Amino acid sequence: MLKETLRNCTLALEQGGINDAAFEAVCIVEHVTGYSRAEQLAHANEPLTLAQTEKILGITQKRLTRYPLQYLLHSWPFMGFNLSVGEGVLIPRDDTEVCARLCLRFLHSLPRPHKAKALDLCAGTGAIGIALSKLTGASVDAVELSEAAYKFLLKNINAHKAKVTPHQGDITACYTDFKDKAYDLIVSNPPYIPSGELAGLQTEVQHEPALALDGGEDGCDFYRLIIKHWSQKLKPGGAMALELGEGQSEPVAAMMTEAGFADIHTENDFGGTQRAIIGTMLAK
Ligand code: GLN
Repeated sequence: MLKETLRNCTLALEQGGINDAAFEAVCIVEHVTGYSRAEQLAHANEPLTLAQTEKILGITQKRLTRYPLQYLLHSWPFMGFNLSVGEGVLIPRDDTEVCARLCLRFLHSLPRPHKAKALDLCAGTGAIGIALSKLTGASVDAVELSEAAYKFLLKNINAHKAKVTPHQGDITACYTDFKDKAYDLIVSNPPYIPSGELAGLQTEVQHEPALALDGGEDGCDFYRLIIKHWSQKLKPGGAMALELGEGQSEPVAAMMTEAGFADIHTENDFGGTQRAIIGTMLAK
């Protein structure tokens, strides 16, 4: 019966020290049976096929090795959009909604948000760019370096028929290819973990690409680069929004002030960390 398999899966995850065991078990059962949480309750006494039970067991076993749940499920939601994820691409996080919401507020403050042009640097799955484009009608250019991540980006753009144009490129150099571009908004969730902290991250995160996490010695390499080279691609009055790591709001705010940004403010995540920053570029 479904409810027995669900209970066994929850117990195994709990005993394996997985924090949200009950939630993860529901996700795994949903992935295999196609039943949502509510449907799992309604069909609790229904038998599962042997193949389904074995598949649930197999996924649970792999999860117990601390392999990320999201990679096992092959998809994960971000702001209501299901995104394809897997090895080689950073998993979209709830924290990133803080940055995306700052962007939405800015785009909605423009007279014609659907005419806006935005740029998403280090796009990964495309989470931010796709959500912004779907929710405002804005056109988004999305830049991603990694071959593996780029495949997920293309897949997600197509799946959502989003007005997002993908570019495979290295943001430390490819700003020269964007000479004639002018954006209302530039957003990035760049790698921002200090290199020395990578080895201490939880096992799940170790399965994610270091390229998407490693922000150099102080974690701020990409902020310096983006603020220096990419802010020049903003229209006067355009905004730059960046996701932040712990303790990075002060240095990043200082860099933005120095580069000529005004109205700089940050927004906290649920844990009380200043998780995103936005500022607008005044006319020169
Ligand atoms: N938020 C991610 C983490 O803490 C880091 C993402 C990033 O470096 N942009 O694992």
